Amino acid sequence: MGQAHTPAMTVNELLRELHRLHLKIHDLREEAERAPRRLRAAQAKIDAASKALQELLDRIKHLKVEIHQKEITVKEHQAKIERYQGQMKAITTTKEYDALRHEIENERLAITVIEDQILEVMLQMEQKQAQVPALEAEVQKAKAEYAKVEAEVGGRRDELYSQLAEAEAELKQLEQHLSGDLKSIYQRVVKAHGGAEALCELRDGYCTGCQTQVTLQQQIDAEANRIVVCHSCGKLLYLPAR
Ligand SMILES: [Zn+2]
Repeated sequence: MGQAHTPAMTVNELLRELHRLHLKIHDLREEAERAPRRLRAAQAKIDAASKALQELLDRIKHLKVEIHQKEITVKEHQAKIERYQGQMKAITTTKEYDALRHEIENERLAITVIEDQILEVMLQMEQKQAQVPALEAEVQKAKAEYAKVEAEVGGRRDELYSQLAEAEAELKQLEQHLSGDLKSIYQRVVKAHGGAEALCELRDGYCTGCQTQVTLQQQIDAEANRIVVCHSCGKLLYLPAR
């Protein structure tokens, strides 16, 4: 432990450096937490695009079934026509003949109506099919985006955690320089505000944490490397590097 050889730091230097490390740790932790959120967001885009595509494909399938059913109905009507035409050979009166002619006409009319409906459904189906490539492209785009985020997050993960461990170790070591009142006040404010928010600069006579002006005595104390706590927000103040 070569700590004994570390040159003595002033209160301002020590607090400045402690704060720098607290902020660094805070940022690295935020980045680490952001990674799963980014992945979840990218996955949600894939899910949404896939759902839209599936709904479209289901709709097309449904229209196909509808066409198929209508075609069966047409065949049923055609079968009836053939049956009536068969019966025609056996009829003897004009009345019977007219009645069958009339039935056949009705069947043909029914077929015409259904065939028009089939054309309409086919048109709908073609319109839906034309939308498929765009939605497929959306799914592919979302998958590519996910892969990109995953590569970024994965590539950074090891580096991120090693930087975090390094900064935490550095902070721990630096905290050993704290003693007496400074140590107890530092521990109290860190507990109350969290490391990144526990300390702040005293800049041009103001606490940068709450924008409150410090007293002249506090300014003098800070310059003399004595402990200064903001009367308003309770944070530990230090002077910026000159
Ligand atoms: Zn303040």
